[in-house]
This record gives sequence, structure tokens and C-alpha cells, in this order.
Amino acid sequence: MKIAVFPGSFDPFTIGHESIVARALPLFDKIVIGVGVNERKHSLYPIEQRVAHIQKLYKDEPRVNVCSYNDLTIDLAKRVGAKFIVRGLRSVKDFEYERDVAAMNKRLGNVETILLLTEPEYASVSSSVVRELIHYGRDVKDFLPQTD
Ligand code: ADP
Repeated sequence: MKIAVFPGSFDPFTIGHESIVARALPLFDKIVIGVGVNERKHSLYPIEQRVAHIQKLYKDEPRVNVCSYNDLTIDLAKRVGAKFIVRGLRSVKDFEYERDVAAMNKRLGNVETILLLTEPEYASVSSSVVRELIHYGRDVKDFLPQTD
């Protein structure tokens, strides 16, 4: 079974993230969305809330699992039997960071990283911009996945 981990902070999970999951689903049998504790980032939503929210979004998609983790992504990949990591690329800045992390994950965990280019309409959508808008009381529903 071809399993991929999609790691991130997802603080919050945006339409950009949703698009990456949708585009990765045809490539893999199963996607594990790993909500990581990022020591370098100050979070808006508690990790349990982020996990619960994403689980709800994918409640009808049995090929998507969601979990939190607080170790290396390669350790999560090993635990869930994933040989692949999926990440999104919005910019050159993303690329430079992702290239280094991907090289390290290959070297230390023998895990291959698949980078999906953002769809142009989502290029400017980021969790950090959404957090900023929330902070200033703006409506962010256009940037978040639709829930029922
Ligand atoms: P991290 O803190 O690990 O960067 P994020 O939650 O910010 O986690 O992002 C998780 C992944 O989703 C990253 O690979 C990021 O590049 C990707 N991503 C975020 N927003 C978008 C978007 N609008 N289009 C494509 N990829 C995106």
C-alpha cells in the first residue's frame, strides 16, 4: 500500500491545504495528515482542536487519516508505514526550505518527498495570513474549507 504523510502545522487548515490533499489522493492509497507541534511557531489553535477539525472535514474519506505528532516527520512516516511525504510549494522561498528538509528526510529516513506546486489561485493563501486576519477581526471563511 502506497502511504504518504502530509505534515504541517495547519494552524488553521486552509483551502490551500485542502487542495494539496485532493490532488495527492489520486497518487496514493492513503494520506496521513500529520499535525506537528512546531516549536518555532506560536500557535493560534490548540493541536487537539486542529486534529479534530481536520478529522471532521475528512470524516467521509476513509483514505485520509489525521494525527498529531511531536517528533520528526520521518519518525511519524515510519510509525504509519509511509514511504512518502507530500508538501506544497507556493514560492521560491518555500522551495529553498523544502529542498533542504526533503534532502535530510531522504538521507535520514529514506523517505521520498513529493512536492506539489500550488494552484495559482491559492498561491497567496497561508495559515499565517489567515491568523493575521482573524487577529484583526476579519472574515476568513473564503480561505477555509467549507464545512456542513
Ligand atoms: P509548516 O508549518 O510545516 O510550513 P503549514 O501548515 O504552514 O505547515 O503548511 C503545510 C504544507 O502545506 C506546506 O508544505 C505548505 O507549503 C503547504 N501549503 C500551505 N498553504 C498552501 C497553499 N496555499 N498552496 C499549496 N501548498 C500550501
